Amino acid sequence: MLRRFFIALSQSETMRRFVIQFGPARSTARRFIAGETLDEAIAVVRDLNSRGILATLDHLGENVASREDARRAAREYQELLQRIADEGVQSTISIKLTHVGLDFGEDFCCDVMQEIFQTAKSVGNTVEIDIEGSEYTQDSLNVFHSLLGEYQNVRLALKAYLFRTEEDLRGLIERGSSVRLCKGAYEEPPSIAWKEKAEVDASFARLMDLMMSERAIQKGFYPALATHDHALILRAEREATRRSIGKDRFEFQMLHGVRRDWQQRLAADGYRLRIYVPYGTQWYPYFMRRLAERPANLLFMARAYVGK
Ligand SMILES: Cc1cc2nc3c(=O)[nH]c(=O)nc-3n(C[C@H](O)[C@H](O)[C@H](O)COP(=O)(O)OP(=O)(O)OC[C@H]3O[C@@H](n4cnc5c(N)ncnc54)[C@H](O)[C@@H]3O)c2cc1C
Repeated sequence: MLRRFFIALSQSETMRRFVIQFGPARSTARRFIAGETLDEAIAVVRDLNSRGILATLDHLGENVASREDARRAAREYQELLQRIADEGVQSTISIKLTHVGLDFGEDFCCDVMQEIFQTAKSVGNTVEIDIEGSEYTQDSLNVFHSLLGEYQNVRLALKAYLFRTEEDLRGLIERGSSVRLCKGAYEEPPSIAWKEKAEVDASFARLMDLMMSERAIQKGFYPALATHDHALILRAEREATRRSIGKDRFEFQMLHGVRRDWQQRLAADGYRLRIYVPYGTQWYPYFMRRLAERPANLLFMARAYVGK
């Protein structure tokens, strides 16, 4: 119920204008967002790298209003790739396809993504594609499949709560690509998605088993397991040991500001861990999805307000 409420609010322009000006909301958001500038984000990535942790940088933004905005976003991603190379930090980039024009059609979005991939290729980096609401799932897969024909340095996120994901995942395993599996942060109807936490968790576990199957590993498929759920993390560790999958053959991913204790633990145990580091001024919808996942985060905001 609360989850649906926050997801609905994430699309409200009036609420956005209020929240981005509201001091306690801004300070609570800072827990999840590296900062509004790239310099702040690079400092966070440097700190992670110094502790043996990888990163993926997300220049926040989604659903641009014009083709020109999409092209501008693409140029910013190209600059970001160049900056990562110049700074010598260990970080991929993560992109939402609606930030680079998916609303203007798959062909347009593919053209824009090609430019980003040319730069990624020249600096030897990987581009990760976030997965958005289900209205974009098929288009995102189409764009991903067409890019995969030309570039190997690309990873797509898939959501465990969607019924269709097993079939999508099987196709990507056969292509020996890489997938970031997450539970899913958007509100979806019960006709296409599991709603109960236990069902979503069970689906994540099944898909994770598939990603770590002998067939997947033989095909050169690279699993990225994006969750803070310790039961699923422990399960992945057990599966990797049971199937003799080396710690360099898969990775865990977590969000900046979430479960730092587990981040520390996984890094200390020698697992590959990548932290999703968002930055920029367009943090409102991202922040609202973090509140939707854990309404208890509101307490931080209440504390910040009381302590003002
Ligand atoms: C690296 C990464 C990339 C992602 N990319 C996408 C994407 O492309 N598309 C998409 O739809 N979703 C994405 N997500 C979000 C994901 O779908 C979930 O909404 C989110 O990760 C919460 O699910 P969970 O697996 O951590 O499990 P949960 O069962 O929700 O949480 C497990 C535990 O983690 C902690 N936790 C989880 N979320 C929060 C939070 N917001 N604040 C504080 N503590 C929290 C709590 O301790 C909780 O008990 C991504 C997540 C990660 C980690």
